[in-house]
Amino acid sequence: MHSADPEPDVAPTSHRKIIHIDMDAFYASVEQRDNPDLRGKPVAVGGSAERGVVAAASYEARKFGVRSAMPSVTAKRQCPDLIFVKPRFETYKAISRQIRDIFAEHTAIIEPLSLDEAYLDVTENLQGIPLARDVALRIREKIKAETGLNASAGISYNKFLAKLASDHRKPNNQFVIPPEMGAAFVEALPVGKFHGIGPATSARFNALGIFTGLDIRNQTLAFLQENFGKAGAYYYWISRGVDDRPVRADRIRKSVGAENTFSSDLTEFDAMVAELQPLVDKIWRHCEGTSNRGRTVTLKVKFFDFESITRSRSVAAPVSNRDDLERVAVGLLQAEMPLPKPVRLLGVSLSSLQTAVEAQPQLDLPM
Ligand SMILES: [Mg+2]
Repeated sequence: MHSADPEPDVAPTSHRKIIHIDMDAFYASVEQRDNPDLRGKPVAVGGSAERGVVAAASYEARKFGVRSAMPSVTAKRQCPDLIFVKPRFETYKAISRQIRDIFAEHTAIIEPLSLDEAYLDVTENLQGIPLARDVALRIREKIKAETGLNASAGISYNKFLAKLASDHRKPNNQFVIPPEMGAAFVEALPVGKFHGIGPATSARFNALGIFTGLDIRNQTLAFLQENFGKAGAYYYWISRGVDDRPVRADRIRKSVGAENTFSSDLTEFDAMVAELQPLVDKIWRHCEGTSNRGRTVTLKVKFFDFESITRSRSVAAPVSNRDDLERVAVGLLQAEMPLPKPVRLLGVSLSSLQTAVEAQPQLDLPM
């Protein structure tokens, strides 16, 4: 803070660093990634030329005004060359998990909004990166490297502004709204662009002569509550760039695992031990990246006929290095030898995770 006077409108939560990550045209981009014939073309995921609604549209389709939730028939009329593709939700979910694993390398406080969007609280991030904009940059680079897909990010001191910011430079970009810019950023915003204000509420605002964030800010709290009930207070504060809602982690991550299916089934112990190495490496990289340490090692063995067994062992103190993790995993496998059937998949996971995060000073946190 540079002002000498206490600033009553700035809540203590303005010290937070929140990132909103949003994948660009997610379903459509996945389809274009996996089918080169679709690249550079207007694509709608979901619906068909005759019926249904568009679930997602590629940027090429958006140029014609095609939007998600639009009836397919309308979309096809606006863009006659539109290609309809069936959604593959299992694929989208798998990518979503990949992306969340990347988030988890930086923070445990992750609030997913959908398969392709999440809020992250990186005020105290696991890699100790000072600027939230750099955390966002790393996440976006890694998402690109691991999935081939583009993400945009908004960085700010609350959820409301972070979400607005991620939209501001889309696609494949990011934008920071620092505390001193928050209120000004909201001023010019049409009320219909506020998160949580739909067309009906927007029309009610307009009927009251309120069109922008500044117009809302010029109203009293009592007036807004009278006209909009409980939401009135939310509008009052967000028009000042204040939003105290915490990022709510859906669950604390309790385990980390990796598995691999082999192109041909394995029968030899040595070959299986060799296949455990990249799995152990992957888990240990996660442990190092997040400062998470676990005590329970689980081995999963799936046979050629899809029957599977799991064997676990818990150690007294959290596993503190890669070789110990390998030793426990290999020991679990060795105890099962000889295995009764050829093996098509091996998996290793580490659970009973504990996080050792050092608290960082809360003062003057630049974004
Ligand atoms: Mg998106």
